[in-house]
Amino acid sequence: MQVILQANAKINLLLDVTGRRADGYHEVAMLMQSVDLHDTVTLRLADAPGIAVFCDAPSVPADERNVAWKAANAFFAALGRPAPGLAIAIEKRIPSAAGLAGGSADAAAALEGLRRLFAPQLPSRALESIALSVGADVPFCLRGGHCLATGVGEVLRSLPCLPAASYTLVLAKPACGVATGEAYVRIDALTELGHPNAAAALRCAEAEDWDALFPLCGNLFEQALPLEMAQRLAKIRKTMWARGAKLAQMSGSGSTVFGIFDSEAQARSCANALRAQVDLQVFVCHAAAAGIV
Ligand code: ATP
Repeated sequence: MQVILQANAKINLLLDVTGRRADGYHEVAMLMQSVDLHDTVTLRLADAPGIAVFCDAPSVPADERNVAWKAANAFFAALGRPAPGLAIAIEKRIPSAAGLAGGSADAAAALEGLRRLFAPQLPSRALESIALSVGADVPFCLRGGHCLATGVGEVLRSLPCLPAASYTLVLAKPACGVATGEAYVRIDALTELGHPNAAAALRCAEAEDWDALFPLCGNLFEQALPLEMAQRLAKIRKTMWARGAKLAQMSGSGSTVFGIFDSEAQARSCANALRAQVDLQVFVCHAAAAGIV
């Protein structure tokens, strides 16, 4: 018995850090949109006891440190039963440590697959609460589409999706990057931050007024980048703007920059121009209506 799932990446159309809780976690306001750049996650019942992870990307741990393993472990703990023999095979396409929630997407796929195999009656809210115990972005990756995420990222409100037929996205991931924890430290160290107007952006998203939304987008982490990384990202954004992007912005805590184009041809021409730059992984994709397919 096996189940094969498409685990979609996400981009942040808007990312604001709005406060810090007593327990140290940061509160955020984010517009998150699934995209069809995806990993493929296969769950298969195995004879050998325990959870085994197989991953084709050498840089991703294929053991208890893998978030898909943690998700499967949390799933069976929540159900109060021992894990059966289970193999989780991950074909990585989403770059790691990229601000695209690649690991969280794999974890969400593992949870959705296990629900289908072992607990089809399990309510979505219960699965979302297991997801949150694995990571703040995992509940969104389960639900997918376009959401306003508040709290630490787990309070989700579904919104109309960016229309895949109208917009083509280019994702460009440079080799440089900052770990998410360090990115928050850098934000905390800044006294003056220009916050995006999340309330106004939300109204535009609800009204599906995309042309009005794009200028209101923003990512607070862009204001706290190390100089060299800021310069690298500025070069990518410049190429995107020059090729007609409606929006060019960093996703999550980086280092992927996404560009949104209303012409597929312009997007492909931009992707080709970016591929000429060194140390850059470039993808062309579209918005997706679901997180796990
Ligand atoms: P986010 O947008 O949620 O911050 P990210 O794109 O920054 O996500 P991930 O791709 O999730 O980051 O990778 C972060 C780290 O998690 C990697 O350095 C990797 O070693 C580890 N990791 C564990 N499991 C996975 C997985 N299934 N896929 C990718 N990375 C994983």
